Amino acid sequence: MAHHIQDSTYAASISDPEAFWSHQASQLHWHKPPSSALRKTNKTFKAKDGTNISHPHWTWFPDGEISTSYNCLDRHVHAGNGEVVAIVWDSPVTGSKEEWTYSQVLREVEILAGVLREEGVRKGDVVLVYMPMIPATIFVLLACARLGAIHAVVFGGFSAPALAQRIDASKPRAIMTASCGIDGAKPPMGYRSFIEGALAKSTHQPYRTIIWQRDQLRWDPVRKETGERNWQRLVKSARNRGLKADCVPVKSNDGLYIIYTRTTGLPKGVLREAAGHAVGLNLSIKYLFGIHGPGDVMFCASDLGWVVGHSYIAYAPLLAGATTVLFEGKPVGTPDAGTFWRVIEENKVNTLFTAPTALRAIRRDDGENDFFSKRGKAGGLKSLRALFLAGERSEPSIVTMYQQLLKDYCAPGAVVVDNWWSSESGSPITGIALSATAGKQYQSSARAGHLAIKPGSAGKAMPGFDVRVVDDSGKEVQRGSMGNIVLGVPLAPSGMTTLWQDEERFYKSYLKRFEGKWIDTGDAGMIDEEGYVSIMSRADDIINVAAHRFSTGKFDSPLRAIEQAITSHHDVAEACVVGIPDDLKGHLPFAFVTLSTPDHPEAAVPDDKLFKEVQQAVRSQIGAIASLGGMIQGKGMIPKTRSGKTLRRVLRELIENAVHGDFAKEVQVPSTIEDADVVAVARTRIKEYFERKGKDLHRATEQRAKL
Ligand code: AMP
Repeated sequence: MAHHIQDSTYAASISDPEAFWSHQASQLHWHKPPSSALRKTNKTFKAKDGTNISHPHWTWFPDGEISTSYNCLDRHVHAGNGEVVAIVWDSPVTGSKEEWTYSQVLREVEILAGVLREEGVRKGDVVLVYMPMIPATIFVLLACARLGAIHAVVFGGFSAPALAQRIDASKPRAIMTASCGIDGAKPPMGYRSFIEGALAKSTHQPYRTIIWQRDQLRWDPVRKETGERNWQRLVKSARNRGLKADCVPVKSNDGLYIIYTRTTGLPKGVLREAAGHAVGLNLSIKYLFGIHGPGDVMFCASDLGWVVGHSYIAYAPLLAGATTVLFEGKPVGTPDAGTFWRVIEENKVNTLFTAPTALRAIRRDDGENDFFSKRGKAGGLKSLRALFLAGERSEPSIVTMYQQLLKDYCAPGAVVVDNWWSSESGSPITGIALSATAGKQYQSSARAGHLAIKPGSAGKAMPGFDVRVVDDSGKEVQRGSMGNIVLGVPLAPSGMTTLWQDEERFYKSYLKRFEGKWIDTGDAGMIDEEGYVSIMSRADDIINVAAHRFSTGKFDSPLRAIEQAITSHHDVAEACVVGIPDDLKGHLPFAFVTLSTPDHPEAAVPDDKLFKEVQQAVRSQIGAIASLGGMIQGKGMIPKTRSGKTLRRVLRELIENAVHGDFAKEVQVPSTIEDADVVAVARTRIKEYFERKGKDLHRATEQRAKL
């Protein structure tokens, strides 16, 4: 059987990384081309306890020099593509829409880089970016890259303490911010109190805080004496004076940006290197996402504060010379669940990239997909070739539902692609490559077209990512068996090589567990006979029922599987299941649900009929072992991160505390939370539930036994 081209391309990337990545590197402009693609070495550092630790290390494109800003902008303008639209800003929350060509973006970035330099930012300095989803945010990323400065984006709207931690960790020379963010249909949220609150707490103080004034809510007054400056004024003055900055090339392994991740405890600053990032993203946007250049339109409905936004709103589409849609809005409520489809139609989007949670929110508001099919029937969605999903696992039901919608209304052969990755990897580790042309010289006899998708799986490994499944001792398990998903050394070029100024933490977080042999991803899952990878949730999401590590036998997270059974009930819009301590069984699954009925009941305790029906659905779809220990209903009670992951841990902590009769105890709320008020709502609901049900769980167990 002929190998599929995705398989042969992958094999080439692993067996001969030098040839594979040298070819990919040659697609970009280098101020100084690297003499080789990869150098593997060992790195030794002195740990805090004084011991010397040595671990495998690798260097991509050693001795090369590159400018990401040049590759994203100047290169396309010089090639005669200056009039191609680089950025479409679509902001339903402000009622604005703007288009920026490559020439225009280049002009803005040159001037802004000039401003930053004049305000004291030099090559190697860190610039902290705390911004909403507006074009100026992309300009500032590229302006930093232009100067060889390192940006550290923190989600606009992060709390003051979280921001203070990141200020102290990254020690920025300047903070780039805006007067306000606009989060969905809520009133504008002033950023001033967050910035000032953070600076009051942080030891490090930036030299400048530069503020983009938005008309919706201004930052007033701008206090020069504390280093604050008005962004637009600085730019205006620079423009009048003809001030600009040209590209400052950096070494391949210099940092382009820091991104903070997994934020329980101190933030972990993943460092992205300049050259590997550019080469890796330039490949992935074409090969995986099918976005090749002028005329192609990418709509990544993420946030610039998340790695997905860094890569596929900002850098990758611009590296390709394509058009990127920057969307300031929400999947629902701005103004309705049809917004994404409007954006696709108006901008002739070819690839949409979002999180499954966005589609779940849309399904909640538009259960029959009326918005999609209405536009689809009128022929408005024909441009769409692919729907990419990442951030958490996409359940098969959502994949097949959208696969059918795409088949009915979008481009011929349009496909839904679940792809798995992380802040550390910088680009997808697995997926289904839409267009194999980027690797075609490796296997001319290979079959064309993309691989078939398998709903529930996140596709196959991407070039350069050596994905393996191992047991706890680091030994590879058989195909089809569950285990820890690890990556071989080196990571593909887009991947991290260290944590910002913290080699020891890098080693401890990723290499120590398997003694330098593998990089630990923290995810579990399996690889099937054909090489498709299925991701189960993090260890965090697994519960023990009656001493069995409870698994569904499918490659679902068991908790997600229970959630799916619950949401199969017509009246349930959303569910989050956590383990609750139980005297008899160790843990029982406990559900938090939001109903889809028009008037959501006020009571936290669901009526008996509903609970019984839901319990029946769980028992028949999964089995008696999964029977619920209880269920709380409420609106706006399930906390999520801004990138759309359900924060099960927060609900689990709240409910564990409640079991011990402690309803007020503080819980660790990660700074990535989308809306911290949700935690208070959950707390109130839990308290009401326990007051109604009695404080101990035997009642819940009894109730369970009765069913
Ligand atoms: P972050 O670093 O915030 O991007 O989070 C990365 C984590 O999100 C991964 O380690 C996974 O646990 C999860 N994740 C991302 N994409 C997927 C996916 N397609 N399927 C399952 N889990 C995913």
